[in-house]
Amino acid sequence: MCCEIKRRFLLLYGTQHGQSKAIAEEIAQQAEQHGLVAEVHSLKDTEEFDLQKEKAPVVIVVSTTGTGDPPDPAGKFVKEIHCRSLPVSHFAHLRYGLLALGDSEYTFFCNGGKIIDKRLLELGAQHFCDTGYADDCVGLELVVEPWIAGLWVALEKEVMSSKGAECLSEDSKPLTNGISTYQDMSDAPCLGTHMHLLRISPSDPLPPQQNVMDIDQRISNEDTEPSLVWSVPPLSQAALNIPALPPVYIDVQLQDAPKQEPSFSAMHPEPLFQVAVTKAEQLTMPGAVKTCLLLELDISNESFIYKPGDSFCILCPNPASEVELLLHRIGLLQRKDAQACLSILPGTKKRGATLPQHIPGINNLQFILTWCLEIRAVPKKAFLRALLEHTFNITEKRRLQELCSKQGAADYNRFIRDAGVCLLDLLYAFPSCAPPLSLLIEHLPKLQARQYSAASSILFHPGKLHFAFNIVEFPSCHYRTVARKGVCTGWLADLVAPMLHAKDRTLLTSGEERVETVPPKVSIFTRPSNSFHLPADPSVPILMVGPGTGISPFIGFLQERSKLREQYPDWNFGSTWLFFGCRHHDKDYLFKEELRCFIKNGTLTHLKICFSRNSPNSSKEAPMKYVQDCLRACARDVAKILLKENGYFYVCGDAKNMAKDVNDALMDILSAELAVDKLEAMKTLASLREEKRYLQDVWS
Ligand code: FAD
Repeated sequence: MCCEIKRRFLLLYGTQHGQSKAIAEEIAQQAEQHGLVAEVHSLKDTEEFDLQKEKAPVVIVVSTTGTGDPPDPAGKFVKEIHCRSLPVSHFAHLRYGLLALGDSEYTFFCNGGKIIDKRLLELGAQHFCDTGYADDCVGLELVVEPWIAGLWVALEKEVMSSKGAECLSEDSKPLTNGISTYQDMSDAPCLGTHMHLLRISPSDPLPPQQNVMDIDQRISNEDTEPSLVWSVPPLSQAALNIPALPPVYIDVQLQDAPKQEPSFSAMHPEPLFQVAVTKAEQLTMPGAVKTCLLLELDISNESFIYKPGDSFCILCPNPASEVELLLHRIGLLQRKDAQACLSILPGTKKRGATLPQHIPGINNLQFILTWCLEIRAVPKKAFLRALLEHTFNITEKRRLQELCSKQGAADYNRFIRDAGVCLLDLLYAFPSCAPPLSLLIEHLPKLQARQYSAASSILFHPGKLHFAFNIVEFPSCHYRTVARKGVCTGWLADLVAPMLHAKDRTLLTSGEERVETVPPKVSIFTRPSNSFHLPADPSVPILMVGPGTGISPFIGFLQERSKLREQYPDWNFGSTWLFFGCRHHDKDYLFKEELRCFIKNGTLTHLKICFSRNSPNSSKEAPMKYVQDCLRACARDVAKILLKENGYFYVCGDAKNMAKDVNDALMDILSAELAVDKLEAMKTLASLREEKRYLQDVWS
């Protein structure tokens, strides 16, 4: 009977940083409980699946990267389905469901998924369930969890209606729980990305480690405010639905072996360049809210190529002090130099378990925690669920159960996700929690290299690469007793501190000999932009919007233009507009002198600056606080350049508010100038984007 055999569906994911992959793995894991078998492939492995011949339902999970692009590994797939010679009925047989991941802080929300979705529909494919749009800004799980719950219902119908054998798995086996179990489970409350198997009520018998004092204390604190470790009614008295325990799958053996040279290339397939930091300069004045540094890298001996507008990635380590604390907390500080041998746990229940590729072969423990795992990552609910198995105090255990439960979703968002709590914070807040190393390796994501926009042109600074960044700071708070800096920016700031101090000393004591320091080195790799470059035709006017460090690529553009003007005095150069914003005129006006020179030599024709925190002047006009205010003030010119002069519009910097506010301003400008409604203006913006004349390079 059909319901007694596992039915196959094809599950494809396109991932940049592993989130889509993790969700696809979660779906594959849950499929078991629904009597289904997921055949999982990355969209990059196009030779391993064939949508043209696919008869089973297809599920696609795809994230968004860059300025609304599908993730890099999905590039080949996207190109293939966009082949113009494909007939409109190419995928007429195909039934699919798509989950798009994105971040609504960015203008082109979930656009990676939208591009694929649109094209599949154009080629005749049909949805068997509605497309989900999960928003990392508010928490992916808010959409992912209900979408997956709905997926099982839709897949069930789909598989039942499709012609039986076509969907059968090759390893069809009798079901142990079958459809009836699924139907039972569909009545259960929706409980996170995992099928919810455990229902915990406060009246359940307490395990042997119960600490009655803790429980009494908890009751007597009912009126107090909730916190990371503390809950109040109704949550503290609620029956909880918690996720199923993720199956363990990694075995770690520690061996005392001679230290080996760590290999970065195994973790990062991109060609790596080890380059010296030859200059460090503080761009902001003391007293500025954020400290911005400009670094110069020496790429003269490398085959490292970049164009203004490109960005690149820096490999950075976790802070040594936090690695030590973590090792201490999991009881392995004494063994930090031991080699960790990873293998798949025999008999694991995790389907398709593979070793994490970001941990190269055999490596010492300290190296793994320093360079491979994002130990600052906010723990996901599945991680909390796994941690509570290793937590012995009953009060702590209950709180962890709450935090990963459906009922505790608001507390999870408030006290973990929004607070930026990391594993170390949790281990200190929950002292009886003692997870094994293997659990950390299973749940901590890959430590990502950080991306930075080039703030220079090779024409202007031969053999050099400049970039500017703000040192990210997280103040101390009740669960984090010491202030922290961003992983990469904090590390870079420490790395170049001797250079900055040496310079200060030289400036302060005139006549003193310059203190030479050995230039520190960093490992980088290229991340060229697809389109965020100067127009090929220099006569085309350009509008650049870049508040704060968002000015970086435009400094590169202007350096390039200024050299080209010198080299080709006969060329016709279009007008060059820069909209820059900062807080205070005399504290964080980045690249002030350089901009003045560009104005003076005619490279920059229009410089529009606003200061958000300068004390208001006596003028009756509305103050220009933000770049979008300046844009609105220049509405006529902006519209003329974009609509009549084929101009380019570039935006770079903070994705949180700025990119959206600039987009809104642009929409208002176009709608007023063209005398059309917002919808029409939006269409005009969309076509500018398609023509690659409206370009964004934004980050949060
Ligand atoms: P991280 O440690 O990664 O922390 C950064 C973010 O994590 C915080 O902003 C916050 O959202 C969250 N977070 C972490 N811990 C906490 C906590 N305890 N509490 C609350 N929130 C927390 N940056 C620049 O300065 N200049 C550039 O030119 C530049 N170009 C970029 C270009 C691109 C295409 C992209 C994608 C990004 C760019 N960035 C740039 C951003 C840069 O890559 C880094 O994200 C940034 O420098 C912070 O890195 P970090 O490791 O220091 O901070």
